[in-house]
Amino acid sequence: MSRLDGRVALVTGASRGIGAAIAQRLAAEGASVAVNYAGRADAAAEVVGRIEAAGGRAQAFQADVSDSAACAALVESVVEAFGGLDILVNNAGITRDGLLVRMSDEDWDAVISTNLSGAFYATRAAGKVMMKARKGSIVTIASVVGLVGNAGQVNYAAAKAGLVGMMKSVARELASRNVRANVIAPGFISTEMTDALPDVAREAASSAIALGRFGTPEDVAAAVAFLASDDASYITGQVIAVDGGMTFV
Ligand code: NAP
Repeated sequence: MSRLDGRVALVTGASRGIGAAIAQRLAAEGASVAVNYAGRADAAAEVVGRIEAAGGRAQAFQADVSDSAACAALVESVVEAFGGLDILVNNAGITRDGLLVRMSDEDWDAVISTNLSGAFYATRAAGKVMMKARKGSIVTIASVVGLVGNAGQVNYAAAKAGLVGMMKSVARELASRNVRANVIAPGFISTEMTDALPDVAREAASSAIALGRFGTPEDVAAAVAFLASDDASYITGQVIAVDGGMTFV
């Protein structure tokens, strides 16, 4: 018997990177997984294919999480397809980096809409289902940048810090209905997002990590699987840094 047998999980932004690893890990632990994506249908289909090839159950669902109605429809479709929703992983995220004085309104709005409002829309819709069922686990992927800040990322840091406050509030609101909400704050994880960093920035980042290496999407997925499972049934409202010993917050 696996930890997540019989559970239904929705992972936003699961077509690649950390989200894809989370979807595969939750499926490997027995969950039926809804693989959400925004634009890359082929990549999402590949993730579903990998899960099915390993004997798991998954289905791809297109939805832009920054669109409130699309998010509500996404949760409704997942419940219809799988018969419920036990685990929500708010993972979809983007970066539009730039220094404060040069940052455009568009770059500010895009990051807040996807990274912060997107998690709100998905959590509100999933929260209704979970409260009714009197069970559920919400795991939100923030970032260490939301805890300690980062030059060139005021929009991203604001969104990620906002997720921490939002999820602590969600944890307080939903605890009486047996719904938990926790946050994972990854450090530098090797994905397309960090592949975009120049070599000099990658070297500087590595030297600031006590364990001396970037993390992998699988490192984050392992922590998500724990928080999603009953092994974490007495843990809510917490922030866990998965950063190889970088921030020590
Ligand atoms: P990534 O490789 O760039 O993948 C981003 C994923 O989000 C893709 O699946 C993408 O879907 C999806 N997405 C983007 N906008 C979306 C939207 N509006 N609606 C639905 N899905 C959307 O990113 P990653 O590095 O795996 O990061 C995943 C999460 O971890 C993000 O929240 C990020 O902020 C956080 N994080 C990453 C790191 C890191 O070092 N990589 C560190 C800390 C935190 P499509 O491809 O289909 O468009």
